[in-house]
Amino acid sequence: MQRRIKVGIPRALSYYTFFPLWSVFLEKLGAEVVVSKNTNRRILEDGIRETVNDACIPIKVFQGHVLDLIGKVDYIFVPRMISADGKATFCPKFLGLPDMVRYSGTSVPTLIDVRYNRKGLPGGLFRFFRSVASAIGVKNPLARAYAAACAIQKQKKYQKLLLKGLKPVEAFEVIQGSKKEPARGKKADKPVPSSPARAKVALLGYPYALYDPFISAGMYSKLIKMGVEVVTFEQIPLRQMRRFSKVLPQNFFWYYSNQVCWAGLYLLEQKNIDGIIHVTAFGCGPDAMVDKTLELEAKAAGMPFMSITIDEHTGEGGVQTRLEAFVDMLWAKRHQYRVG
Ligand code: SF4
Repeated sequence: MQRRIKVGIPRALSYYTFFPLWSVFLEKLGAEVVVSKNTNRRILEDGIRETVNDACIPIKVFQGHVLDLIGKVDYIFVPRMISADGKATFCPKFLGLPDMVRYSGTSVPTLIDVRYNRKGLPGGLFRFFRSVASAIGVKNPLARAYAAACAIQKQKKYQKLLLKGLKPVEAFEVIQGSKKEPARGKKADKPVPSSPARAKVALLGYPYALYDPFISAGMYSKLIKMGVEVVTFEQIPLRQMRRFSKVLPQNFFWYYSNQVCWAGLYLLEQKNIDGIIHVTAFGCGPDAMVDKTLELEAKAAGMPFMSITIDEHTGEGGVQTRLEAFVDMLWAKRHQYRVG
């Protein structure tokens, strides 16, 4: 029997947005998908060793995940992420990711570094699928079309689950059938203790920073344990957020930066949150602008705002203290409103 080709997917960066699309497509073409381990100290240290000093922590971690896959797979999937919505691009570090990996100090398996670009001519997604299929030697257009249809369908389901409030890892489990989908209208992640929530907080940041519990020092879970209701940009319908692309005098050039900023503006308009926490990576150029924009908009709306910068030295204790202080302040503010 012919051995299945093994394709490694690093558990970092756009994994948190596109994993169902990629993994289902590869599996339907007959490949075995191997995902790197959860981020841990060793993965981070390997990534730091292999990456330039001034890279942000998500990029360093990505490199560590690539190293984790060496010896386990035939190919590593590192698409060149250019545009996901046909308008904005990904940040320059995303654009250069395959080169960064290829020319790091360690020799890596063959990279599948096809372009993911929805800009320009229609059919960008299908060009992407065709290139991925041919990279692993699948030429049959029917097999490719079937795999693409399955992948798109799972990706849509994944996005619906995120809208319901599931975290990516929970949504992956639902899609893979190892977890049940929460009932309609029920939010997945309830604050503990359950009711009433001590505060409702917008936790804004790039998915690969927020949802990787190692690099975010578990911020999301910490807030839930404090009895906070957490909202992230994935829980806001895209068409609602997109309205704010017309409100800003100039949108950002970068895909994730726009989503974070639009989500912040949407939530400020809705006035149904108590505060905003912006999680930003040290050394992130785009975030220098996103953070300032959110801070100024929150200030103008009288909304409490805190920004937390993460890097390789971020510790659990420091994050816990800052979150507790912020949540206590929100609770006190909310209480005063009720009494007064
Ligand atoms: S957007 Fe910022 S955090 Fe994300 S990869 Fe680029 S530099 Fe790093």
